[in-house]
Amino acid sequence: MSITNNNITVQNLTVSYQGQKALLDISLQLAAGKITGIIGPNGAGKSTFLKGLLGLIKADSRTVLLGEAPIDTQKKRIAYVEQRSALDLSFPINVLEVVLLGTYPKLGVFHRPKKQEKEKALSALKTVQLEAFAKRQIGELSGGQLQRVFIARVLAQEADIIVLDEPFVGIDMTSEKVIMDILKQLKNAGKTIVIVHHDLHKVAHYFDDVVILKKELIAFGPVATTFTNKNIQLAYGETMGDIIIKGVADA
Ligand code: ADP
Ligand code: MG
Repeated sequence: MSITNNNITVQNLTVSYQGQKALLDISLQLAAGKITGIIGPNGAGKSTFLKGLLGLIKADSRTVLLGEAPIDTQKKRIAYVEQRSALDLSFPINVLEVVLLGTYPKLGVFHRPKKQEKEKALSALKTVQLEAFAKRQIGELSGGQLQRVFIARVLAQEADIIVLDEPFVGIDMTSEKVIMDILKQLKNAGKTIVIVHHDLHKVAHYFDDVVILKKELIAFGPVATTFTNKNIQLAYGETMGDIIIKGVADA
């Protein structure tokens, strides 16, 4: 499959909550073979953008294509890890079972995981360096271990599109590095990686393209030309730019 089939084209995405616009007419293309970062202040609509493009919430207007066809007809090709506060960690399920969930879209509803799926899940756990934790309850993991388990689930799904909402909040540096290394490999294999991210200091290291949101699209493009003082200040206010982007060429 050509990797242009992994490009996501978003046209005129507008979302409201109770009549209040949270996202206004966003149009852009998320490119295959790249890691795109979504940044913007709290409440800017970053999570709403992900849910809107994935079709998980109602939009006022929305056209989203994956390759040439509507994304809504290709949901099995997408892996999504939502922002962590949204999850119930007291649910009694162990690490291996969480990773096995990744194989379900391919299995279909009436099939139970067999040897092949278990091997896939264990191999994914090995990739995130958690093979020793297979039987551990997810409630007993650190934040970093838990996020690595979700990445293992993404790997087991063998998705083409990987969408992560603030995956690095509250996790240790080792886990962050393990995850970033995996994402870079996936990107080099032509996958499309989209990450909502909080820490502006990492933007230049982690991302190829950046989307700067504040209800509207402030800027979008390659990090080198888009992650500029001017654009950061447009999104975050005048005090933010200078400290943050030291080391990034300002056009
Ligand atoms: P971000 O992820 O950038 O912090 P969100 O997409 O979560 O921002 O939220 C964007 C705006 O929409 C915020 O003002 C938030 O309060 C509001 N919002 C988000 N989800 C809901 C919801 N389910 N109902 C009402 N308002 C919401
Ligand atoms: Mg959010």
